[in-house]
Parts: sequence; C-alpha cells; structure tokens
Amino acid sequence: MQQAATAAPIASRVSLIPVLSDNYVFVLHGDQPGPAVVVDPAVAEPVITWLEQRQLELTAILHTHHHHDHIGGTPQLLQHWPQAAVIASSADLARIPLQTQGVQGGDRFELLGRTVQVIDVPGHTAHHIAFYLAPAGGDSGHLFCGDTLFAGGCGRLFEGTPEQMHRSLQQLAALPGPTQVWCAHEYTAGNLRWAAAEAPTDRAISERLTTTLALREQEQPTLPSTIALERATNLFVRAESPEVLRHLRGHKDLWKG
Ligand code: ZN
Ligand code: FE
Repeated sequence: MQQAATAAPIASRVSLIPVLSDNYVFVLHGDQPGPAVVVDPAVAEPVITWLEQRQLELTAILHTHHHHDHIGGTPQLLQHWPQAAVIASSADLARIPLQTQGVQGGDRFELLGRTVQVIDVPGHTAHHIAFYLAPAGGDSGHLFCGDTLFAGGCGRLFEGTPEQMHRSLQQLAALPGPTQVWCAHEYTAGNLRWAAAEAPTDRAISERLTTTLALREQEQPTLPSTIALERATNLFVRAESPEVLRHLRGHKDLWKG
C-alpha cells in the first residue's frame, strides 16, 4: 500500500521469539530500523538481542495477564528502553505494577499506526485481557490472546468460571475469520491429540493434528492460527454452552496424553 511520506509507518509484521520451554514473545514491527512493540515478554535477554540485531527500538510492552511467564522480562526491558510504555489491565495494577497505561475492555488506543482494541477475557485469570488489531497495511488483523485461546485449546481456569471462559472464547470467535491468532504458548500438538481422542471421528481435527505434528517434527511453530481455524477445530470454541466447556475442561485437566 502506498503511503504519504508524512504518514506514520504501519507496523504490519508480527514475529515470534520462542523462550523458556514453550512460551512465545511476540514482536509487532514494520521496516527495520524502526519502532517495535513486544507482547508478553516472559524474559528479557533473548528479546533484547533479537530487537538489537534488527535495529528495532522498543516503544511499548503489552501484557495480557499477570503470570510471571508473561511479565517476567519487563523490568529488564525497561532498563534497556526506559521510555517504553507498559500497557496492561488497570484492574490488575497490583499484580502488574510497572504499567504506565492502564486499560480495560472496550478501550482503543493507537500503536505504531494501528488501532488496538482491548477485549476483557476473564477465565484463566480474573483480569485477563486480549488485544485485537483490525486489518491494516494489507494484513488480516492480529489477535494477541495470551493464555485464553490456544490453538486447539484454552487456558486453565485458575481464577474464573466456565461461564466466563465460554463468554470470553465466544467474543474472540466472533472476530473476523482471517484474523491471525497469536497464543502465548506452543501447546497445539497436545491440545489436538487430546481433541482427537475426545472426538475421534472429527475429520477437521485429525487433519489439523497431522499438519501440526509435521510442523513440530521440524521444530517449526504452529502459530499463527486463525479465528476461522479455531471455529472449525477447537472443541472449547465449539462448546455450545458453559456446561459443555466445563465438561471438556475437566477432561483435558485430567488427560495424560
Ligand atoms: Zn497464564
Ligand atoms: Fe502462560
């Protein structure tokens, strides 16, 4: 897309950095050198190295929830880029203390030339939020959903009810089908193995399991997913009621692969 020389560049690329055993840190950026936004930095050092190698300047950190594997890298990133904004749920200020901009569901703000929409998605934690970026710069839009929606699964219910998780997943499932879905963990193979055991005659699930296992065999990420793919193959998204979701979540919690 052509842009006026004076227009702010639109960040249309999302890159993922695998860290710890199965976490992903996401980076939203445009051309290099330039500004970048990081989502859910579990740790700092691999992120600093990754950004510096590409001459990317950290301008903001987004947090989906307070768990350490989503915020642990923030203090060190701020030492490196003290001017970076820290955007998180204002309701979770006590547990995400370094925030410079508190947000809540329904809020919209501008970041790297894009509009970011905040969606409340309680269930995994009480104040879990997701960030949705509508399509821009020729991409299909992006969803950063932390530990709420996983490829083929959903987060454990640590602080919420099946009703809350059901409503949260339905809100995400209502986003446009082509939206790229960036989940914070590489759990896809385990989720789909479980789903294939739960629904053994489901063709869409078994086909997705096959492509997922092939990617993992080559140590490739299975992300991004899309909203359309989750609608088709994610049993938690397909659950027609909180009661069905509760039942599935109970099975998954006890499942031993
Ligand atoms: Zn979590
Ligand atoms: Fe996590």
